[in-house]
Amino acid sequence: SNSSSKQDKGVNVQVILRCRPLSEDETRIHTPVVISCNESRREVCAVQNIANKQIDRTFLFDKIFGPSSQQKELFDLAVSPIVNEVLEGYNCTIFAYGQTGTGKTYTMEGGARKKNGEFPSDAGVIPRSVKQIFDILEAQNAEYSMKVTFLELYNEEITDLLAPEETMKFVDDKSKKPIALMEDGKGGVFVRGLEEEIVTTANEIYKILEKGSAKRRTAETLLNKQSSRSHSIFSITIHIKECTPEGEEMIKCGKLNLVDLAGSENISRSGAREGRAREAGEINKSLLTLGRVINALVEHSGHVPYRDSKLTRLLRDSLGGKTKTCIIATISPSIHCLEETLSTLDYAHRAK
Ligand code: ADP
Ligand code: MG
Repeated sequence: SNSSSKQDKGVNVQVILRCRPLSEDETRIHTPVVISCNESRREVCAVQNIANKQIDRTFLFDKIFGPSSQQKELFDLAVSPIVNEVLEGYNCTIFAYGQTGTGKTYTMEGGARKKNGEFPSDAGVIPRSVKQIFDILEAQNAEYSMKVTFLELYNEEITDLLAPEETMKFVDDKSKKPIALMEDGKGGVFVRGLEEEIVTTANEIYKILEKGSAKRRTAETLLNKQSSRSHSIFSITIHIKECTPEGEEMIKCGKLNLVDLAGSENISRSGAREGRAREAGEINKSLLTLGRVINALVEHSGHVPYRDSKLTRLLRDSLGGKTKTCIIATISPSIHCLEETLSTLDYAHRAK
């Protein structure tokens, strides 16, 4: 199959598709559905009526999760194996890509924790990954250290979602200090001034995640709809102490990046009227460059344009080479989203 030939070439990009259900409102007004998912054939079909002719377009993915799929199912089948790779010392990245309103944040974060601290059944990829990491480390009785960062990228500027309150000045945009992305002189990058929180329990990470995403939501209401144009990157870095059979001590390091991307409408629309969009600062350079980077990695086309955007510079050590990447493309089944759905399917399919 396509994916096994990819493995032969050492490219580890998996593309999965998730279609959300119609919302209650959409159901009440009988919104027509134009998407059908065939999970066993790994196919999604979009039905289009052009000049009174019905045209079906079919796309193949590594995995498909239809409207009735549950958070646990998606995690167990698509994400859990990747989390295991992180504990084996790989750098892995999971992206949620799709139009605003199709379930990127629902998929990555999901429902809030209950008052007693327990997971709700609609907990998303991030809390489930954290739980799996701690469950495994504890079962292995491993000696480890762990740190997390949580940042937001908006207009090619980095905001630290874990920064102490006084440096978060979203209200007055001019006083909001962007954080600098610096070259480390060894081909890597680091973010100057970014908070790195050392964590020792899963509960601490959940609290950090909740604090950071609350900040993201505040920013969204203050800076009208910023979040549909911003990317958030939640990263967990784990160092595990190991002993070789010879009794030598070794440190294994793995990193998991969980990325909630800007709404994909930010590239498809600007693509149609690039000149004007560029003036209006509407083109999402990072989203566009991510597509090019993944294409270059999948196609082995030599030059990989990591340097062309902040997002790809930030994730460089986790894209290509000995890494695993999973793109979760999210779509709506509604007829009113069809145009954006088709561009999401095209973008995600090209990454395969
Ligand atoms: P995005 O982050 O892509 O803009 P959201 O995650 O905010 O989209 O989802 C939009 C709405 O749809 C939210 O109310 C969310 O709870 C709901 N939703 C999204 N995906 C699903 C799903 N798979 N099952 C149930 N509800 C969903
Ligand atoms: Mg969102």
